Amino acid sequence: MRGKARLWGHPKALDIVHRNGKWFASIVLEIDDTLLKNSRKTDCGVIAIDLGCNDAIAWTNGEDNGLILAPRFFRYAEQIIKQLSKKKRRKRSSNFKKKQKASRRWKKVQKQISKLYRQVANKRQNWVHQQTTRIISSNSTVVTEHLEVKNMSAKAKKGKRKKQKSGLNKSILDVGMGMIKQSLKAKLDDVAGVFVEAPTKKIKPSQTCPKCGHQEKKSLDQRVHICSNCKYTQQRDIASCEVLLLWYSNQLPGFGTNLVGADDSSSTSHTRKTAASMKQLGQRKRQKSQTSPEDVETPGSSKPSQG
Ligand SMILES: [Zn+2]
Repeated sequence: MRGKARLWGHPKALDIVHRNGKWFASIVLEIDDTLLKNSRKTDCGVIAIDLGCNDAIAWTNGEDNGLILAPRFFRYAEQIIKQLSKKKRRKRSSNFKKKQKASRRWKKVQKQISKLYRQVANKRQNWVHQQTTRIISSNSTVVTEHLEVKNMSAKAKKGKRKKQKSGLNKSILDVGMGMIKQSLKAKLDDVAGVFVEAPTKKIKPSQTCPKCGHQEKKSLDQRVHICSNCKYTQQRDIASCEVLLLWYSNQLPGFGTNLVGADDSSSTSHTRKTAASMKQLGQRKRQKSQTSPEDVETPGSSKPSQG
């Protein structure tokens, strides 16, 4: 057997699974909460990260900053999968109506395809774990902007941009932005860290200058932030990280923020505390009923870790 648990505890369950021609063992351990919390260093740094498609993760902690290039796991495998799918179409597939079973050759190609998909998924998961562990290792507070991967990767309905949008969607899903966030949340939860989601629409991290607070719209292909007001120049994603970090520490120029509007840890719902007239309330209700309900992830407090 390969791999090991981050922390050893009292074994509770063992599952042995035979999947896609391979054997897997999954052991569930019960770990003492205090042991988990003591397992990390007492370093309590704050880091702001920005998730993107070109540069998967941009980060800054106030002194250092950097970029992590987006891996393109699926993009690499895509061509081979396409070729194999074409091959598969020429073989005899199963047909329930004709009482026809899939040929041995069809099954063989199908096996190759599912193997590739599995490899892509494994590589991506491994990468996400590595990156998030590295982020958490020296920071107990992670600030990022609130984004809806589901909304972002929704299909474009009509028009010329359809193909363009589907390409962007592939990139978003290939990076695994949702996975990175979930993994960060879970790992921070384990060590009693804080995951902060900034209200994107309110502070506009990608449009604000971290030095003077001047706001200016940028197009998507504009990769460098150059402030027209104070001439501050910085890589686009790092600049928005700097904005997030300043917002978190309450030092964003020209922005009298406090943390009331912040989404703390794993909540995805926005609580509105301002008083409103009846007319406004009615409008809000209508808006709410139109939008589909957000799926709220339940933060597991004491999860057994799986190895
Ligand atoms: Zn500026």
